[in-house]
Amino acid sequence: MSDCLFCKIAAGEIPSRRVHSDEEFYAFEDINPQAPTHVLVIPRRHIATLNDLRDEDAPLMGRLLVLASRIAKERGLESKGFRLNANCLESAGQSVFHVHLHLLGGRPFGWPPG
Ligand code: AMP
Ligand code: ZN
Repeated sequence: MSDCLFCKIAAGEIPSRRVHSDEEFYAFEDINPQAPTHVLVIPRRHIATLNDLRDEDAPLMGRLLVLASRIAKERGLESKGFRLNANCLESAGQSVFHVHLHLLGGRPFGWPPG
């Protein structure tokens, strides 16, 4: 989608601190980190919100989850623990309308979230 911030980041049109790149996914450091590790993991394909997922997206989203968990391991979070978070719509905290996982780690997190 031409005016989507994360599509532009994945395409290299807007700079980011790359963590991972392949033909399906892109991962980069969050510009406003909420924890020592705060990586955003996105599919390159534009999907605006979790509401827009279809049954056929299940393999893609499964691979997204596996990739995020792999990055967590690479960050040494395998035994410390980490959080994967996806916000859907403004009331849940979504501000960029391109599906993404927040990978957060390196500090304790409370539950439930505020
Ligand atoms: P959400 O609020 O769940 O939609 O998450 C969007 C995230 O994108 C926030 O944590 C922002 O800090 C982050 N963000 C916004 N603009 C950029 C950018 N240019 N580069 C990296 N992260 C960004
Ligand atoms: Zn997009």
